[in-house]
Amino acid sequence: MTRTLKICHLYGNLMNTYGDLGNILVLDYYAQKIGIQTETEVISIGQTFDANRYDIVLFGGGQDFEQKIISEDLATKKTALTEYIENGGVMLAICGGYQLLGHYYIGANGDQIPGIGALDHYTLSQDNNRFIGDIVIENREFNETYLGFENHNGRTFLGASEKPLGYVQRGHGNNGEDGTEGCVYKNTFGSYFHGPILTHNGVLTKRLLSLAIEHRFPEFDLQKIADLPLEESRYQVDAAGVKRVQN
Ligand code: GLN
Repeated sequence: MTRTLKICHLYGNLMNTYGDLGNILVLDYYAQKIGIQTETEVISIGQTFDANRYDIVLFGGGQDFEQKIISEDLATKKTALTEYIENGGVMLAICGGYQLLGHYYIGANGDQIPGIGALDHYTLSQDNNRFIGDIVIENREFNETYLGFENHNGRTFLGASEKPLGYVQRGHGNNGEDGTEGCVYKNTFGSYFHGPILTHNGVLTKRLLSLAIEHRFPEFDLQKIADLPLEESRYQVDAAGVKRVQN
């Protein structure tokens, strides 16, 4: 029996500035190892997002320019995307995509770009500064450490219904003030980590896959995912940052 997970790359032709597409390649890589296929479709401007069609949605980052371009179209997908999220659909939203799932984003030039308010955060800008560099966060609920790279002007403040994806150990995170990074709401994950957050954080990849598989193929033995070796053992994090180690 062939099992196939359907992945939607939301605005994949516009919101992919930092190679966020790599997240889909990693999901596919792990899925193949447990005999599951993936099929990816880009849903972009003028196309309908069908809330029942997909098992995983990736909404990547972008510059203010692309965010402005997609924001009007995104409003037409608000109901379907909100339904998908509320029904427990699995979503990973990075940086610009993460910002636009919230109420609004004030761009670097001061313009307000509307979001869809599917998640309860909002994002302000900062003057003549960006948060750039290696970032390490700790997810206290799962006792996991995630590492990555951030590059954003926006300062995001979470709403009461959201939990942070993690607490900053190194770097800036959501806003440089409250120690949080990213968000978790139901099975939707937001983060400022570029490019492919999932390459360096196999535990998170496995979590997203497990959630999607549990939803679509409840009979599947999730232990098979738990048993998969993590692929990023060639990297190490310490106080000085992220290092590649030989093995
Ligand atoms: N343009 C947004 C910002 O600078 C998002 C950037 C991004 O996706 N990296 O905050």
